[in-house]
Amino acid sequence: MFNKLKEDVCNANKLLLKYNLVLFNWGNVSQISKDGKYIAIKPSGVDYEKLTPDDIVVVDMNEKIIEGKLKPSVDTKIHIELYKAFSEIKGICHTHSNFATSFAQAGKDISVLGTTHADYFYGDIPCTRALTKKEVENDYEKNTGKVIIETFNSFDYKTLQGVLVKHHGVFTWGQDSKKAILNAVAVEELAKMNYRTLLLNPNSKLPKYILDKHYKRIHGDNAYYGQGGK
Ligand SMILES: [Zn+2]
Repeated sequence: MFNKLKEDVCNANKLLLKYNLVLFNWGNVSQISKDGKYIAIKPSGVDYEKLTPDDIVVVDMNEKIIEGKLKPSVDTKIHIELYKAFSEIKGICHTHSNFATSFAQAGKDISVLGTTHADYFYGDIPCTRALTKKEVENDYEKNTGKVIIETFNSFDYKTLQGVLVKHHGVFTWGQDSKKAILNAVAVEELAKMNYRTLLLNPNSKLPKYILDKHYKRIHGDNAYYGQGGK
């Protein structure tokens, strides 16, 4: 019943390997059905190389398994919380990619320092607060989702399609699972550049007018980058 959705999610999870975003099973990707009722997600603890569309688990918004024989990712509740709160996203990617996770562990935002960043994200990629002891001991995954949502009380999830969870790793999203992965690739590369740039010059900063120019020529009503034509 969910063949296309499962195939897309299987392919997206394999891209984690292609783009060097994961070691072992340190990541997962999901996509939500067009009607917003079902989520296809990687099964827990299955190697990306061996993954087939049949292994992908489909759950409803209450985490009930609708299709699939395997257990869904332990992070499924995080994905559910994000889909509920960020109503226009269709795909989510989670990784512990090296440079971005270093920023998450240090509790530092990835500040916008250049146009590569501005082409993807309209501002700094924020790092959440740490979860409290109570939040960790009680419904940890759901609370991880809630902390991300709390962080986005002051940001727009449509123009900043990624976040660092403090002490943990990276979550990105997009209009489908593939776009979520491409955003995760961008976050990792930006974290790497950010680290090196700040070593070379700790006072680096991108002027707001350059951020505006680069973000808006690709995104938004008056975008003119690419072959799309508007
Ligand atoms: Zn994780």
